[in-house]
Amino acid sequence: MTSSDCLFCKIVAGEIPHDTVYETDTVLAFRDITPRANVHVLVIPKTHQDTLAQMAGEDAASVAELFTAAGEVARLEGIDESGYRVVSNVGADAGQEVFHVHVHVLGAQQLGPVGPRRS
Ligand code: AMP
Ligand code: ZN
Repeated sequence: MTSSDCLFCKIVAGEIPHDTVYETDTVLAFRDITPRANVHVLVIPKTHQDTLAQMAGEDAASVAELFTAAGEVARLEGIDESGYRVVSNVGADAGQEVFHVHVHVLGAQQLGPVGPRRS
């Protein structure tokens, strides 16, 4: 399934320029256009899924592939030993902008604690 107006489906289709870091038959990893860390790579499934929960319900193995690919990206970027963060924004409170499942791989610097302080 693809969504014709989905930004990341267009990236998978090669319709939008991107900087590929890693690719398999099912997964694509590319640099975030607005990097918020010295290394900031997005890992996405090549087939469109709106949410991680939907994906987990339909095909848990594909979720595992995303995290396996994230580890491979870290190795390729040379941050597997220094440490890195894998994070996925889900929904409005997390500020999710693109509704095609993706995980962010962040590293090559000290990242600080996860998330904001509680209000
Ligand atoms: P999220 O807020 O978790 O939905 O993350 C979406 C991410 O996609 C943001 O970090 C954006 O900077 C990134 N992004 C948006 N457009 C592009 C693009 N054309 N190429 C690479 N990354 C993008
Ligand atoms: Zn999509």
